[in-house]
Amino acid sequence: MQAFEYANPTTVKDAIALLSDDAAVLAGGTDLISMMKEYLATPKRLVNIKSIKELGGIAKAGGGLRIGATATFDELATSTLVRTEYPSLQQAALGVTSPQIRNMGTVGGDLLQRPRCWYFRNGFGILGKDKDGTSLAPIGENRYHAIFPKGDAYYVNPSSLAPALIALGAKAKIAGPNGNREVGIDELYVIPGTNSGRELSLQPNEILTEIVVPAARGTKNATYEVRHKEALDWPLATASVALQMKGTSIAKASIVLGHVGPTPVMAAAAANALTGKTLSADLATEAGRLAVEGANPMSGNTYKLQLVRTAVKRAIMQAGGIKA
Ligand SMILES: Cc1cc2nc3c(=O)[nH]c(=O)nc-3n(C[C@H](O)[C@H](O)[C@H](O)COP(=O)(O)OP(=O)(O)OC[C@H]3O[C@@H](n4cnc5c(N)ncnc54)[C@H](O)[C@@H]3O)c2cc1C
Repeated sequence: MQAFEYANPTTVKDAIALLSDDAAVLAGGTDLISMMKEYLATPKRLVNIKSIKELGGIAKAGGGLRIGATATFDELATSTLVRTEYPSLQQAALGVTSPQIRNMGTVGGDLLQRPRCWYFRNGFGILGKDKDGTSLAPIGENRYHAIFPKGDAYYVNPSSLAPALIALGAKAKIAGPNGNREVGIDELYVIPGTNSGRELSLQPNEILTEIVVPAARGTKNATYEVRHKEALDWPLATASVALQMKGTSIAKASIVLGHVGPTPVMAAAAANALTGKTLSADLATEAGRLAVEGANPMSGNTYKLQLVRTAVKRAIMQAGGIKA
């Protein structure tokens, strides 16, 4: 690992002043440190944000929920408020079963962790290209890659929390040298223009400070993940749903897929099919079918189509309390 300076500010203002293109924000370090060990990240300074009290905690705010960027998976998984009003978020957090990651990994770090694509992690750049510019995933090992690739981006967004937060309409608050801004969680992710680019819209001198989730009253929500095994790994496919109810019918639906595209994927056709209808197992199956419309799988990952159909169906049924 390359030698680095370590800074331990106690205010957001001081942290921002310490950041630059050559520095990196350190939260739990569960992704950043492994990136540094592989020389995939070589910051000259680490700016620890865990000593900044205002960045922590989970609390009610304005009828909704405020999640500090340094709140851990464990805090999310054990919060009564999250469990009762935002089960989709708690289910996403509970999917991360490792106690080490649950205790150290933060919400901000989860949203901003780098993709697990083995081409990227082995030094072939974010778009996983050979020296001659050939994309390696379509011609190589692609079983964990995107079935909804965008442009030359075949990696999948690794965050388990992003689909649930997007479905719930959450926003991220960001602080930087030019002040504060607020963006939708989906806006955190961009498609890199070049192989040395970044897939995150956050600038190197900005800090994600908190997540604001709107009130969930009357919104049924759930997350269903499909994993290869119940051990330390990322899901193969995830569906998070939020259903705004009007009596027994669905007034508005949001369905977001995780781990199948370089950004979380909005399954708009599936969500539209639910609008104005009464929840049923058949309707959930139909939404699952529509959720893979437009998918473009590669040689090794067509199996993900069925995982998505199932994840969407089960997330909807779980949200609606319908037994399989
Ligand atoms: C074995 C294993 C299994 C895992 N399984 C899953 C899984 O199933 N689902 C899942 O979603 N994740 C999974 N993870 C990933 C894990 O959730 C992340 O490593 C963790 O959430 C990152 O949080 P952190 O606080 O440690 O971030 P760090 O490693 O400290 O930071 C990660 C990145 O985000 C940046 N960053 C962090 N916080 C901020 C902030 N507030 N503002 C600006 N930049 C910031 C850092 O600079 C760095 O680039 C797994 C990890 C491991 C090792």
